[in-house]
Amino acid sequence: MKTTRAHPVPDPGSHLLELKHVVKHFDISGGLLDQLRFESGRLTRQRTTVKAVNDVSFAIAPGETFSVVGESGCGKSTLARTTIGIYPPNHGQILYREERIDNKSAQAMLPFRRRMQMIFQDPYASLNPRKTVRQTLEEPVVFHNPAISTDQVEARVAEVMSQVGVDPKWVGRYPHEFSGGQRQRISIARALMVDPEFIVADEPVSALDVSIQAQILNLLMEAQEERGLTYMFITHDLSVVQHISTRVAVMYLGTLCELSPAQTLFESPRHPYTQALLSAIPRLGQKRSRHVRLKGEVPTPIHLPRGCVFHGRCVHANRRCEEDVPKARTVEGDVQVACHGVEEGRL
Ligand code: SF4
Repeated sequence: MKTTRAHPVPDPGSHLLELKHVVKHFDISGGLLDQLRFESGRLTRQRTTVKAVNDVSFAIAPGETFSVVGESGCGKSTLARTTIGIYPPNHGQILYREERIDNKSAQAMLPFRRRMQMIFQDPYASLNPRKTVRQTLEEPVVFHNPAISTDQVEARVAEVMSQVGVDPKWVGRYPHEFSGGQRQRISIARALMVDPEFIVADEPVSALDVSIQAQILNLLMEAQEERGLTYMFITHDLSVVQHISTRVAVMYLGTLCELSPAQTLFESPRHPYTQALLSAIPRLGQKRSRHVRLKGEVPTPIHLPRGCVFHGRCVHANRRCEEDVPKARTVEGDVQVACHGVEEGRL
């Protein structure tokens, strides 16, 4: 695996994609009978909402690898799916090359769908078991370019299969005839078939053996360098993030805690949650006592805490943290932190 990124952090002034105050909640109330509660002698109707993504804003520059990290259930996969249009946001705006896309019809979104692709965590689940590799790879090309000739499609399939390291002779095989790593290469090939600009990769290596993970990451990085791709990379694996990212957003309970160039984040994390997260990475020669232990459990996204969502677990919390939601503020250079303690200068 490569140990440093080949290109610097791009100019954040030139946005490929921008999220402005995006909110994504899911109503899981069920039917009328599920919603009824008997409280204080009265029958009331209550809705249950999972607040997966809450007021998230950031911008991704062309050529970046923008990683979103956090524990399972922090909302990062929902954020990825909302960004690419699988889920419509409840509030906020999503802009692609400064054009708003969150309110477009399916027809109006077609040109953007070609430019924005997604790679999923489980390649076996994301590939249709009844389709050969040829059918899987042909489908998006023909869909976005119905006038393309059969010969052109075949040449394109062979070219992209070679690029991702899958022998084009295997074009007639089905997904179950490949290993996990090969299936993920085919998933990457499917995303590359339509020549995208922007790829959201949702935990693309976490379902693979460790020995295969580095190969797939290197393949993604090589594709980026050859094609000038921009990545939004979703993962819980901080060692992966450190190697591939230009900037990193840290997420906790659906909110962004910290957004920073990767090197700065790993050298000097500012938000108490980021510090706890990074302290859990085992390092050679590091004493066990440097591991920051958090108190309590992660609250449910159905009942978000008031104020800072992290206050119940933060050893630096004060009265203000229990009442006011901290806003993301630029603390130095490209570093943004949402924390009262950092803003007040006590952290
Ligand atoms: Fe801790 Fe307060 Fe900062 Fe939240 S805002 S991380 S509770 S110090």
